[in-house]
Amino acid sequence: MERIFNFSAGPSMLPLPVLEQAQKELTNYKGSGMSVMELSHRSKLFTDIIEGAEQGLRDLMQIPDNYKVLFLQGGASQQFAMVPMNLLGPDKKADYVNTGSWSKKAMKEAERFADVNVIASSADKNFTYIPEVSKDMIDPEASYVHITTNNTIEGTAFRHMPDTGDVPLVADMSSNILSEEIDVSKFGIIYAGAQKNIGPAGLTVVIIREDLIGHAGEDVPAMLNYKTHSDAGSLYNTPPTFAVYMAKLVFEYIKESGGLKEMERVNRDKAELLYLTIEESGLFTSPVEKKSRSLMNIPFVSPSEETDAAFLEGAKQRGLETLKGHRSVGGMRASIYNAMPKEGVQTLVDFMNEFEKNHK
Ligand SMILES: *Cc1c(COP(=O)(O)O)cnc(C)c1O
Repeated sequence: MERIFNFSAGPSMLPLPVLEQAQKELTNYKGSGMSVMELSHRSKLFTDIIEGAEQGLRDLMQIPDNYKVLFLQGGASQQFAMVPMNLLGPDKKADYVNTGSWSKKAMKEAERFADVNVIASSADKNFTYIPEVSKDMIDPEASYVHITTNNTIEGTAFRHMPDTGDVPLVADMSSNILSEEIDVSKFGIIYAGAQKNIGPAGLTVVIIREDLIGHAGEDVPAMLNYKTHSDAGSLYNTPPTFAVYMAKLVFEYIKESGGLKEMERVNRDKAELLYLTIEESGLFTSPVEKKSRSLMNIPFVSPSEETDAAFLEGAKQRGLETLKGHRSVGGMRASIYNAMPKEGVQTLVDFMNEFEKNHK
């Protein structure tokens, strides 16, 4: 069967060679006579998979030795609670930057535990930009500063990371992890649900500086304590074994494709093509401020809902799917993660140009 270009925000496209390798190995993994899904998580074969996945991610992101990599479950949404449960000091103060829907959900969850202080927000302009965050805004007594590096729904992204000094920077990187080179040492915690740029849903990756582990109170359940998972090498309970295996294949694929430098080059190239088409269009517009544009999620709108619907219908007929914008924003949204080939974006912009010409 033909593959379509899937512009879904998540779960999203996976690289075809990764799917094909998984297919090839599905019923008999490395001569075991079993699928990875049937392997014990304590077996040698699975130990090699989870250790390989960790090493693969460490190599790609150049993760320093004083950081742990945890393979967890519960999605980025569970991290909204785990971060405050594990990091808050006796003052229970945490600083948050509000850049949209996911930031708001993170803040709402943190409010159960913390005195949440919103130090910067783009709510005044419907989250169409990334606010400036400077060191003097940060409460030196805050246990951490939380940001959403890429706003999946609004289509904005931090182009440079705020300097938070001695206060640990915690980042929800769900929708742009592995899309470009970043300096991990600037962060206290990076977390991401896997289903955008890493692999299948069900796996959550947490990269955490070692000194931030072990501060959870006695009342924090074992499963929600970073220390439990760090001590057990992410094998305290059964991890999402098949998702970890798929993530390992994705990390290998990215490495073979030239690593994060190459991902970034291609991602910039793809995003530029789409933004340029929107800029030159007399029909489509971008709601996002130029300097805050995401490379991963690109919303655009036409003048009416009828036109949006006609565009989406025509796109679908050309194998361009899941382009409908988030219900809170409307219009269209093209999510162009690492696995979306340039050809997919080219096919999309060709159709946008054709649609516009026929629409006049
Ligand atoms: C998708 C997404 C989430 C939610 O992730 P789950 O794994 O579904 O909990 C949180 N934050 C951002 C930025 C996302 O893109």
